[in-house]
Amino acid sequence: MMKCILVTGGAGFIGSAVVRQLLAETDLRVVNLDKLTYAANLASLPGAGDNPRYAFEQVDICDGEALRRVFARHQPDAVMHLAAESHVDRSIDGPGEFIQTNIVGTYRLLEAARGHWSALPDDRKAGFRFHHISTDEVFGSLGAEGFFTETTAYSPNSPYSASKASSDHMVRAWHETYGLPVVLTNCSNNYGPYHFPEKLIPLVILKGLAGQPLPVYGAGDNVRDWLYVEDHARALRLVVEKGRVGESYNIGGHNERTNLEVVRGICALLDEMAPAGAPHDRLITFVADRPGHDKRYAIDADKIERELGWRPQETFETGLRKTVAWYLANRPWWEAVQNGSYSGERLGLESAA
Ligand code: NAD
Repeated sequence: MMKCILVTGGAGFIGSAVVRQLLAETDLRVVNLDKLTYAANLASLPGAGDNPRYAFEQVDICDGEALRRVFARHQPDAVMHLAAESHVDRSIDGPGEFIQTNIVGTYRLLEAARGHWSALPDDRKAGFRFHHISTDEVFGSLGAEGFFTETTAYSPNSPYSASKASSDHMVRAWHETYGLPVVLTNCSNNYGPYHFPEKLIPLVILKGLAGQPLPVYGAGDNVRDWLYVEDHARALRLVVEKGRVGESYNIGGHNERTNLEVVRGICALLDEMAPAGAPHDRLITFVADRPGHDKRYAIDADKIERELGWRPQETFETGLRKTVAWYLANRPWWEAVQNGSYSGERLGLESAA
């Protein structure tokens, strides 16, 4: 039986949702291992510091010695590995950090986990899990038809997706070669509360509130499949507890939307919830497309639904409404990100959809 889960990247967007759920809905001890890069924010874990079941370790996953000390100190029964450099635009401007954290860091974490796992007594060894959280972007781009399944060939197009594809391959190899009990998940685009405002949905909400231009790449016709972050966190918990060892599971929300539809949807919600006198969609501004911009992602989530009974609870409409409402109600959280008084660097909101 699992008693302790080590979550890497638990101060990031999805990792913090996982930590919040694990603390609120289970009796597990939760160790949050995070380097605290610009993308991290411990304010996304309100109250966690006072919880006796929670521990925080500020560690870089590239530091093998520090990782070994954390495994020895906390003796986790599972690792949920979310720590990564995650922003595609940043990977185009500077791929080095992505190679370092996503590839070298995952290798160091696998080795530290393997050392810990191989020394466990037999009863705990069989139950140990290394869960790698990855993206549907490893599959590349789809045309107008079809869906990514677990057997779709990898074909990454950006430095970010190539680094995640590489880490997926290593995780699988550590299972085949060393027997490490791994599970993998590949998820579509997440959105929801506590999302760092360089990403499309929070960027558009905050720029819309500020009356600033809403940048949209190309013609805005790139299609993404959106999943509410709390639904993703629930799926991850099911996979780490009940997923079959050595298997991968695709996770998606059945919510395909063009970027323009997403931006228009946010504008309509802002018109209703934060009226500005003039419609927000007047702010939409088309900008030069991102190089290597994948046309369409869409997930076939049949396997996780069939095997583990997972279903998203939110539709895109209900999730987007909750998200806009959250940003309106949590101004101090995002103002601290914007003015640089949180744990990361000052953000210029320079990014585009
Ligand atoms: P995020 O950028 O919000 O958070 C990443 C976290 O990892 C941050 O807290 C950061 O400090 C930490 N981190 C980065 N480098 C580190 C290092 N070297 N050592 C220790 N910690 C480090 O990312 P996110 O959006 O929460 O994504 C989490 C994971 O889920 C990533 O692996 C990402 O590839 C994957 N994923 C994300 C999405 C999405 O839509 N956001 C979709 C599918 C998969």
